Amino acid sequence: MKLAVIGTGYVGLVSGVCFAHQGNEVVCVDKASEKIEMLRSGGVPIYEPGLKELIQTNTAAGRLRFTTDLADAVRLADIVILAVGTPSLPNGEADLSFIKQAAREIGEAINGYTIIVTKSTVPVGTNEKIAAILAECTDQPFDIASVPEFLREGSAIHDTLNPDRIVIGTASELAREQLTALHAPLTSNILVTDIRSAEMIKYASNAFLATKISFINEIANICEKVGADVTKVAEGMGYDNRIGRSFLKAGIGYGGSCFPKDTQALIQIAGHVDYEFKLLKSVVEVNQDQRYNVIRKLEAILDNLQDMTVAIWGLAFKPETDDVRDAPALEIIQTLLERGASVKAYDPIAAANFSKLLTHPHLEYCESKEEAARGADALCLLTEWKEFADIPLPELERLLRKPILIDGRNVFREEELSQTSFIYYSVGRPSLS
Ligand code: NAD
Repeated sequence: MKLAVIGTGYVGLVSGVCFAHQGNEVVCVDKASEKIEMLRSGGVPIYEPGLKELIQTNTAAGRLRFTTDLADAVRLADIVILAVGTPSLPNGEADLSFIKQAAREIGEAINGYTIIVTKSTVPVGTNEKIAAILAECTDQPFDIASVPEFLREGSAIHDTLNPDRIVIGTASELAREQLTALHAPLTSNILVTDIRSAEMIKYASNAFLATKISFINEIANICEKVGADVTKVAEGMGYDNRIGRSFLKAGIGYGGSCFPKDTQALIQIAGHVDYEFKLLKSVVEVNQDQRYNVIRKLEAILDNLQDMTVAIWGLAFKPETDDVRDAPALEIIQTLLERGASVKAYDPIAAANFSKLLTHPHLEYCESKEEAARGADALCLLTEWKEFADIPLPELERLLRKPILIDGRNVFREEELSQTSFIYYSVGRPSLS
């Protein structure tokens, strides 16, 4: 099939590349000319394992190309996929300006029957608005469909090629047939539904996962007070098929470009129909507070952070990505700086993006985990990159001025730590002092 993918970010680029890999002819469009230039010259604007190789193979095979010319790409396409951003507005609602602008541009360009698919996460009713914009801009026949995206950054290629399910929301028989055929090589688990339910499935899924995270984080906080170990509690819970093992890892809370904005947006969606989503509001509140446990634990040990040097390992909101949007590290580091500490930060991939959001005279970005730890009064681990777990603890002890370790992701084991003199606080597990 001939596809145009509008928006070449984490979702659009990965989806476009994977559809090309399936043998489709794909044109990826972005209005950011520097992204397109980079992609055309063999570079990749985001970090995602395996992506570069797949781009190379599929561009070489002539199935994948990149352009800033939306109209040209749309005119050649049978199916146009919208994958532009839907960030949060200050009141928590989804900002639909990129969606509406792209819909206008698509409407002005289509020159024959086209299926317009929304992959971006959009509030219930948005696809109908897209259809209205398209109808204002063109007399050509078209159908719309909502096909929400569930990939996870860091394993986006694997998730796209092996999805748990594909949801197709459409009222059109032709769109249903075409989109089922497009996705059939990926999975047999295809749910066809109405557009509004498809839009809601995406928000409900993210809200549920966020709820699991906040739930286990609260259990962890209680475990700390009653002397239980949350990793054992989660394991014991996870064996129950009704509960499942995933998303029961206690830590410093969720971040990233989806859960924070999608939970806020769903609270707004509910509010617009006079429904107060009390549970989800609490999930957000718990998550917001959880990151401050790192500061509270540091202060419990050091009393005062003024003039202390704190090493930070991990800036991305999770491993294997360079995405720092709404990463808990942002607020944690800001708070440390506000309380008078100096910060030495290291992340294997995400430091360049992070430094675009946060600079400060007392914030130093380091080239290695060892450099960040050297001479620091304490170390906080915020992202569970594998290389952090691999460091021999006696070596880490020698690097730090004081052997204080706040492990925000429960990476280290008590057996290893008990051989050292570390003062160690993790999340929901017994501390060592
Ligand atoms: P992103 O910010 O990485 O990429 C969006 C891209 O769209 C940008 O490169 C931007 O320049 C481009 N763009 C905006 N308007 C355009 C236009 N008119 N024409 C051409 N290009 C345009 O966003 P993302 O992380 O890929 O997310 C995209 C959507 O997918 C969002 O709605 C998000 O909620 C959803 N989603 C994201 C993920 C994820 O893990 N990132 C997962 C599932 C769903």
